[in-house]
Amino acid sequence: MSDRSRLSATDPLVADAIADERTRQEQNLEMIASENHVSEAVLQAQGSILTNKYAEGYPGERYYGGCEHMDTVEQAAIDRARDLFGAEHANVQPHSGTQANMGVYFAMLDPGDKIMSLDLNHGGHLSHGHHVNFSGQFYEVEQYEVDPETGYIDYDALETLAEEFDPDMIVSGSSAYPREFDFEQISAVADRVGAYHLADIAHVTGLVAADLHANPVGTADFVTGSTHKTIRAGRGGMILTSEDHAEAIDKAIFPGGQGGPLMHNIAGKAVGFKEAQSDDFAGYARQVVINAKAMASTFRDRGLSVVSGGTDKHLVLVDLRDSHPELTGKDAEQRLEEVGITVNKNTVPGETRSPFVTSGIRVGTPALTTRGFTEPVVEDVANYMVDLLDNPDDDELAEMISREINYLSQEYPIYG
Ligand SMILES: *Cc1c(COP(=O)(O)O)cnc(C)c1O
Repeated sequence: MSDRSRLSATDPLVADAIADERTRQEQNLEMIASENHVSEAVLQAQGSILTNKYAEGYPGERYYGGCEHMDTVEQAAIDRARDLFGAEHANVQPHSGTQANMGVYFAMLDPGDKIMSLDLNHGGHLSHGHHVNFSGQFYEVEQYEVDPETGYIDYDALETLAEEFDPDMIVSGSSAYPREFDFEQISAVADRVGAYHLADIAHVTGLVAADLHANPVGTADFVTGSTHKTIRAGRGGMILTSEDHAEAIDKAIFPGGQGGPLMHNIAGKAVGFKEAQSDDFAGYARQVVINAKAMASTFRDRGLSVVSGGTDKHLVLVDLRDSHPELTGKDAEQRLEEVGITVNKNTVPGETRSPFVTSGIRVGTPALTTRGFTEPVVEDVANYMVDLLDNPDDDELAEMISREINYLSQEYPIYG
């Protein structure tokens, strides 16, 4: 491609890093649950000259001239998001999932107001009120947890906590909780204590779009999401809400929290959302869940503790403390990386180690499924993983597994 040769002439350092990253993605099995591989079409839209254009405002109401084509692109993204999720209103301008959450907080809360959300160690997200994040600094935060026995959200404790704490907003949604949320139950609690319900579906946007996961639209007051995870629409965020909150949300994003929208990313969202409307995508999303369930049962059969006993969606959370008390999440992540399997260390419910070390790993199937992996292959990969965790010092075994992973990565290319 001539574009690439231009980049390598102008900036060989960046060109080489991009080429090396492409090779890394091709040669490794990406099992970080929040990652995926977008299509060539999404890449083309995101890498387009739309990056040149300022389009502050919204379709039909821009602050700059020359926005007619931007209007076409953004309106398509909005219409497709509304169609996919059944929402009255969609804002597709948030630069990320975190900024989508910021938009909702800014629209509906004052500094010092109270947020109640899932604890980070129990699967929550930084933007739900962690003290290192703006959300924990601007608002007063209480967190609910999963039941340590079952690994499921403890809804009774959540309700008691809500009655005591009297939050202004209850946040549902997670980064490392392998089960579906009961959005209706959380909305009922929110109604009872006079709080808004924000459902953050960042990880599961693709599964919700394909009707494989409960859809909080129409139940929660606000729904936020990332667009680069299971839905494969390129990096960014979005907010879905009802007509009555539309204006407040739009104002909180622009001019409240952002300047010009990233129109090239919004074009990626439009293209990815169109792909997500297809039967192909529905099949993909189904396979993501089937693969995750296959992975969870292989882990269980091989003696690993899987938080909550399994999964309803695209990820499995392994608690290594029972099966491998000496092995930290950090060790496991490193050892797997060496053979070409990329996962992330993750805190687990009742975590006893620091977030930089952890006692668990989070394993996801969205990216593998995009490459075409089905259950038998996923089970092979899961078995290799356990073989390695059982024998972390066996270099011969590691070499053999590394060769197998390399072979699989060639059998299932990403970009051909
Ligand atoms: C990934 C994620 C986000 C958003 O992340 P960004 O990196 O800001 O796009 C928000 N909430 C949850 C629960 C997430 O998992």
